[in-house]
Amino acid sequence: MTRREVAQLIENMGGRILITSHKNPDGDAIGSALGWFNFLRKLKSNVKVILYDEVPYFYDFLPNVEKIVSSKKIEEQFDWAIILDVSELSRTGFESISARNSLVIDHHATANPQSTFAIVEPSMPSTCELSLEIMKLIGEELIDYDVALPIYTGMVTDTGSFGYSSTTPQTLRNAAFLLEKGINPYTVIKNLFERNRVTRIKLLQKVLETLDFALDGKIAYITLYQRFIEETGAGIEETEGFIKYPRSIDGVEVAVFFKEYEAGKWKVSLRSKGKVDVADISRKFGGGGHVMAAGFEYAGEGGLERLKEELFKVIESALFQ
Ligand code: AMP
Ligand code: MN
Ligand code: MN
Repeated sequence: MTRREVAQLIENMGGRILITSHKNPDGDAIGSALGWFNFLRKLKSNVKVILYDEVPYFYDFLPNVEKIVSSKKIEEQFDWAIILDVSELSRTGFESISARNSLVIDHHATANPQSTFAIVEPSMPSTCELSLEIMKLIGEELIDYDVALPIYTGMVTDTGSFGYSSTTPQTLRNAAFLLEKGINPYTVIKNLFERNRVTRIKLLQKVLETLDFALDGKIAYITLYQRFIEETGAGIEETEGFIKYPRSIDGVEVAVFFKEYEAGKWKVSLRSKGKVDVADISRKFGGGGHVMAAGFEYAGEGGLERLKEELFKVIESALFQ
């Protein structure tokens, strides 16, 4: 669908509207969900945000964040479900969502929407920015501080503070537009990056101890074992951003973060510096994402050793093809 068609669809939505996003929500998921919630509250009488996982504490500065419901099940019936920053129902965490119609707004290259309606723009750096473009078509005057702050936050997190190559001139124009709504950029940065718990730094210490290399230093990888969580008292959501350390090393083309989220079950994050498409690599393991940032889950018999072997082989052939 085009942005204009989506804008029209949203304007005409009636009844009970559900807003949701992916599990382990990041800034783009939370920002777009709250941005749309604060925007639609002015137009519609019945709007609700439900996410599968809890919102990490450092997003507590976002207006109306306390209205987000965390629940492992959606019991209610909705007329509409707006699904943000994700296309596949399985990645919302919910077994099912009871809604007459659904609309996906997403920017993943690997998106495979199962909704009745969808707009997927892989060239957009964030779902928040795509949402902002659609909101402007509905009514620029409805974009106030409470809408602008979460949208700006998601734009910051998905673009690496406007540093990744996905950032466009229009992204910065959009950021400027949002700053004009009264946002102090340091409020966002301080909340996101300068409120670490000591437990996070202790966990980082342990994870950095595992730093290792493959393919002559072209792959750098770090590992989080379940026992690190027990030893530090940190939550697994506190690992957000750890992958920037292996990625930051000179000569590294692909950074990998192996996270044991349950005994023998691994969540794998991949970051590229441009030579390989990690979304493509992740797709081979049943996951997805973007060219420069992607991931997948693995619970194979052979455990971490087998996973490393298989993954590094695929990265090697992508690097040297
Ligand atoms: P992460 O490494 O968890 O920050 O994820 C990086 C990117 O990859 C995000 O855009 C995710 O949406 C995407 N991604 C991560 N895991 C999966 C998965 N299992 N399936 C599809 N996409 C994923
Ligand atoms: Mn996301
Ligand atoms: Mn995103």
